Amino acid sequence: MMIENTIENSATTIQFYAGLKTIGGTIFEIKYKNERFIADFGMVFQNKEGVQVRPQTIISDLQTIGVIPMISGVLKTDVVDKNATIAISHLHLDHMGLLQYVHPDVPIIMSEESKTLYEHLHTIEEEPNVNVGQQVKGVPFHQPFKVSEHIKVEFFPVNHDVLGATAIKITTPDATIVYTGDIRLHETDVDTANLPNIAGSPDLLIIETTNVQEEFLDSNPVIQSEADQLMPALLEIESPIIFNIYHRNVKRLETLIEAARQKEKLIVFEPETAYLVQAFNLEAPHVRYLIDEQDASKNVVQIQRIQPITLDEVRDNFSSVWLQSSYHHIRTLLELPVKGATYVHSNGVPLGSFDPMYAELLEWIEKLGMKIVVLGVSGHAAAAQIKWMADAMQAKVTIPLHGFTPELLTGPYQTFLPEINKIYPISSLLKG
Ligand SMILES: [Zn+2]
Repeated sequence: MMIENTIENSATTIQFYAGLKTIGGTIFEIKYKNERFIADFGMVFQNKEGVQVRPQTIISDLQTIGVIPMISGVLKTDVVDKNATIAISHLHLDHMGLLQYVHPDVPIIMSEESKTLYEHLHTIEEEPNVNVGQQVKGVPFHQPFKVSEHIKVEFFPVNHDVLGATAIKITTPDATIVYTGDIRLHETDVDTANLPNIAGSPDLLIIETTNVQEEFLDSNPVIQSEADQLMPALLEIESPIIFNIYHRNVKRLETLIEAARQKEKLIVFEPETAYLVQAFNLEAPHVRYLIDEQDASKNVVQIQRIQPITLDEVRDNFSSVWLQSSYHHIRTLLELPVKGATYVHSNGVPLGSFDPMYAELLEWIEKLGMKIVVLGVSGHAAAAQIKWMADAMQAKVTIPLHGFTPELLTGPYQTFLPEINKIYPISSLLKG
């Protein structure tokens, strides 16, 4: 009886705090005895970010309005739980946007590539309030890592539209769980394709379902590489280009720089993006960064290996320039002869019509006399590919989430749709 009791008490549990039937932030926790492993720490509703909250009570206010989930022991305002670790699958806001509110004594782990990018994002002040050097540990791929006495994790690289994305395998004494994070499966995405071979068949597979939607179920998607999809379209454009990109996708920067080289254009980045271009060694003779002549105090980012260019110079050479324009800098375009230019929207912010700012962006583009071309590539595998992945992983229980209609995915054996905040013993899920 004693023994049975011990087993009952020590059995691994899983709890989801956010990100089930939505593409909003994902957060879940694996617990064994008092050891806690939390996977991802994403902003649940990005659009509420704009809501003014009181600085003294920011965390509890954000919890009240549902931006931060009700999770104990890991937030700045909590008495810290020394048995908790947070792991981040990749550096998208819906997977890590809440790290800024994490208690400084809670260890955070991520892939080494993610950590490097995260450090650079701090340098350009795009990510606040975490002492990356002290608190964050970069964990190499394919190396088992003990997060606590009984919980071990291993990172497997996957492809997504951000550098450093990882799937996470979590092993406890009585359960194995694989979490895919966000995954893409273009023809060059060999890391994702390899996941079923190297991660083993787990008890539980937690898999994203962003593109698992009714209208996509029977479609036969284009699965070329990202560059193969974008390059020809970029090269076809004859007018000057204004582009809006998401610069955490370092590969996309590389594609744009190469396309501009082939078109014999100067490519001009905003300083923050230029900093990343330099940090990842993508600088080239035709790359420039825009320097603010009027206000030198704004030129805070240190860039040594890329030539600066002024707005006047951009204006004088406008027909031979491709210019980056983030939405929050769009006013700059008022000073340039952009009428007739092509506005290339390539997964920058605002990303799509679900964001209220998107309508404003379209209005700006129209008023300025530009033509918009959407040249994005989804970071997510197609519905049929997600189904392939779930089947190939051969998990005893498949948990689809992080999509609008996760219930459309069924695993090869059992499929389970959890509820928010409920604690499930994994043994009970395996029993069905
Ligand atoms: Zn993502």
